[in-house]
Amino acid sequence: MPRSIGIAVALFITLLFCAAPQKVPAAADTNKIAPQLQVADGNQLAIPRGGFGMDYLFAASLIPQTRAATSTGLAGKIIRFELFPDGVDMYESTRGLVVTEDLPARRLLATFSIVSSNADRVVIDFNKGMRRVFTQTWTEVDSFTLDERDRVLEVPESRVFEMREEEGRVIIRQSVQLRSRQSESDIEARYEARYFISPYKAGAFEGKEPSIADGKYARFFETEGRIEQGTGRISTRIARFDISHPVTFYYSANTPSNYVDAVKDGILYWNMAFGKPIVQAAKAPDGVTAPNAKYNIIQWVPWDNAGFAYADALLDPVSGESDHGQAYITSVFAFYGVADARELLRALEEMGETKKDDKKNPAGLRVTMPFFGSGPACEMDQQEFAQQMAHGLQEVLTNDALTDEAVLRASQDYVREVVAHEVGHVLGLRHNFAGSLAGTLTRKDLDAWFKAYVTGQVTNTYAYTNKLTANSVMDYNIFQSAVFIGWRMRTVKEALPHDRAAIAWGYFDSTDARDKKMFFATDDDVGRYGDVRRFDYGPDPVVSAYADTAKTIEMLPNAIIETYIRARTPRNTNDRVPLAQVNLSPVSYARTISYQFADMLSWFKKDTRSLRIENQFDFVGDLNLKERYQAHWNYLNTQLTNLSGVDRALFSFLPLDLKLELKDEPKDVPVVHRLNASNLTARLEKLLDSTNYQTFVGLDNKKTNFTREDHDLIIQRGRVFFEQLEKETVKQVCLRL
Ligand SMILES: [Zn+2]
Repeated sequence: MPRSIGIAVALFITLLFCAAPQKVPAAADTNKIAPQLQVADGNQLAIPRGGFGMDYLFAASLIPQTRAATSTGLAGKIIRFELFPDGVDMYESTRGLVVTEDLPARRLLATFSIVSSNADRVVIDFNKGMRRVFTQTWTEVDSFTLDERDRVLEVPESRVFEMREEEGRVIIRQSVQLRSRQSESDIEARYEARYFISPYKAGAFEGKEPSIADGKYARFFETEGRIEQGTGRISTRIARFDISHPVTFYYSANTPSNYVDAVKDGILYWNMAFGKPIVQAAKAPDGVTAPNAKYNIIQWVPWDNAGFAYADALLDPVSGESDHGQAYITSVFAFYGVADARELLRALEEMGETKKDDKKNPAGLRVTMPFFGSGPACEMDQQEFAQQMAHGLQEVLTNDALTDEAVLRASQDYVREVVAHEVGHVLGLRHNFAGSLAGTLTRKDLDAWFKAYVTGQVTNTYAYTNKLTANSVMDYNIFQSAVFIGWRMRTVKEALPHDRAAIAWGYFDSTDARDKKMFFATDDDVGRYGDVRRFDYGPDPVVSAYADTAKTIEMLPNAIIETYIRARTPRNTNDRVPLAQVNLSPVSYARTISYQFADMLSWFKKDTRSLRIENQFDFVGDLNLKERYQAHWNYLNTQLTNLSGVDRALFSFLPLDLKLELKDEPKDVPVVHRLNASNLTARLEKLLDSTNYQTFVGLDNKKTNFTREDHDLIIQRGRVFFEQLEKETVKQVCLRL
């Protein structure tokens, strides 16, 4: 058959099977469920003829192809395919997007060319048709923002490299180049777009609208806002799983065996919050990685110098039902022994020093992708995270009786808390950065507990088990507090109060969090309240800032020795730095101390808001302005009294001869000592001679000791460092006044 005739025949057949375009019904028949989509030869998508005009759920995850291929879930859409003689269109359902269906509206998302068709189905070229990626992420929950909904990135080139059917869904994996026309248009970023398309079952799950009354005390992630017909009122639904059957979380097969129990405990923690066995933990089959349509996966990411963990879920845009979710945990949380902890400390110091605007330094990387408005559910500031964890590790390493087992135990308990935090996100919970305000364990007691814990001597457990460092794992808890929570998970087996109340609110409509006025504040509240902070500790902000200063000054000699250990015994000998070349920077320490000072001062300004104070009032407004100010000053006074007066609280650390009225030392917090170069040098000398540092395990896992010359060099440099620190601190503090 001549070629031209062949084409004509093919064309004729195509036309024969392409039915005339039907009139788009105003709304799909919600009682009927669309037939499943199919995979045709060559990774092409087949739409059964009965599927046209029917609703499908269109969900997607974007996966960067550099560094760590972790995913970000995008906002789900309800879509419909329509057949035309020259192609197949994909429309977004207008339900919830228009105020009335009397006026027909169409939202064209993409057009696909037809590859082949027969009486049963039409095969389309999905790859060529998906010229864009919708970038709205599942956590962009601001009521109703059409701009975000319609924001797309261009796809210059793409390739669908895998398409498969799984449990009623079609899963499409597409390699894409992404280009923004708005910013950095020369950059083509490489991603995998992973699509999940399934028949949409409307009304199968009852959504819960968040209430204003409870919103001050508990919040979940929410769907995008949708317009209610007729009234135009906009409402959202909270993200949650259908718990009429168990929800299983799978830990990825590459989870190191030392951490499997910790990861499981972090998952099963939520059963204590549910008050019944809802959540299950199991090992994911080999080769199954996140994101996966069938499994909720806790994915272990072997990456030692990226401190992040985050979670993500795919939601039904109408009901908020979670289809599946995943969490990523980097191996930064896992350190097996002393050498590992030191190595990690090195990495963290580097991360902590990276300037936020330093895009070139990989340590300063963001988990978010370029072009994206909002990040994943849980985006930690690398610097903040690294600094607090470095402080925590330094305290671990200070201990004389430290063993590899003790380090591993601390690391496992830390993983328990981190996994519980991320699984909490997948279950729908938002951050609770006010968690630490509910702490009942003083800083001094936490330190005492930690010391006993590290040396394996927590004996008087009751003194600690009835105490809290925070009311929620959904806070960013400082290292010692997180380890405490992990330890508590393992020993007390009880959910923290706000975690329990949040689950009870989201899943069982309980008003406990509101009735008990529990401390709660989420991401948007961080800039609003002076006492809502990430990685803070303690219920009283002025006392906390004071305690932080005490810790910073106390740990200075340790920090110096650890710096020299890192230089002398790196993991890889090629990274060895001669001790004479080690650079100590007094400026960064002086800055830290001055910020803690500024923190305390901020409470003397009347526009600094306190969640603790406002939480006592039913509303915040002009009518109770006077009462609120009064409460603010009373509270400030109480805190200063607890710190034995304003002189001690604010000025006792300053290396200046001031006429201070220093009364007794405060009871429940570590005491701040005056920054004094001779005293600090003496402590450095003593510490260097202590058993812990006479012989130490280096990052290379070998036992080493400093020579006499090393010893003298460290003392000499330390002295100069402390002298400069005195001057620099005064300078920096003056800048904050
Ligand atoms: Zn988080």
